Amino acid sequence: MSDTMFLYIMNMQTYTQEVVNLHTHSYYCGHGFGEVAEYAQEGLKQGLKLLGMSEHCPVPDNRWGSSRMSYSMLDSYTKDCLATKDEFDGKLEVLRGYECDYLRQYQSYFAELQGACDYLFFGVHDLSLDIGSEYSMFWNPLTKDDLITYTKFYVEGLESGLFLFGAHPDVFCHSYRAWDEEAIACSKAILECALANDVALEINGNGMRKGLVKTSYGTRYAYPHHEFWKLASQYPVKVICNSDAHKPSHVNDSMSRCLLFAQECGITYSSFQVEKDQAKSSGAKLSLIGGAHPGLEGKRVALP
Ligand SMILES: [Zn+2]
Ligand SMILES: [Zn+2]
Repeated sequence: MSDTMFLYIMNMQTYTQEVVNLHTHSYYCGHGFGEVAEYAQEGLKQGLKLLGMSEHCPVPDNRWGSSRMSYSMLDSYTKDCLATKDEFDGKLEVLRGYECDYLRQYQSYFAELQGACDYLFFGVHDLSLDIGSEYSMFWNPLTKDDLITYTKFYVEGLESGLFLFGAHPDVFCHSYRAWDEEAIACSKAILECALANDVALEINGNGMRKGLVKTSYGTRYAYPHHEFWKLASQYPVKVICNSDAHKPSHVNDSMSRCLLFAQECGITYSSFQVEKDQAKSSGAKLSLIGGAHPGLEGKRVALP
């Protein structure tokens, strides 16, 4: 019997936050601009080494259709991402993912998609369960009841087992301006759930682009909110930052602000590991390493 030797080459690459953006849209979602390849081109110019495309994920019934990629465009998006990956091979690692709006009825659909792309993450943008209407997180002031609904939705996303990270967990601060008992309870529930499920949380550069808002306790970004992230620094939760770009020039333009913001809040960003199976032309395993923040030294943090 002859010996058969299987040569199985795995290639592992680690990246620090400064050269990574995993939250990137394009013209595909209808409210973004530019082709996938333009983001890669601009990403190289702005110092990125790892770029994740993450179009707003369509669902088969085209819910949220006015602000999400259409379901019929999935194949075209995939082809564009893979062609860009090949074109930039050796200069910039290009991954293909999706930003999902999680609802439980799409669990198996997202699970299938997860197996066919490089990563998924989620965000909560809409609080309506009615397919025919939207209740945007951005359009109206949020009530305390809305805050409870938001937290419930966010926690379900964290617990789904599908996502590498949760986008802009503090987006509720855009339309809920008080930093009160309810806001703190919502934040703690999200942080504790992220930690228990080992899902990272995102400091979002697009919130910074939206400028400053006035509150009774001073001026702050609509989101990210310092108070949320100061609280986060008390938990060994993984934290990353992303641009949330909707045009190529934004692909990494918020990085210096995000680095400063994290420093002010006592947050240390996680690093990124990409494990590529060279036997396949696509498919990468993306993971995060981190969770140690300066304020945690010597402190015992109780897991929920
Ligand atoms: Zn968007
Ligand atoms: Zn986004």
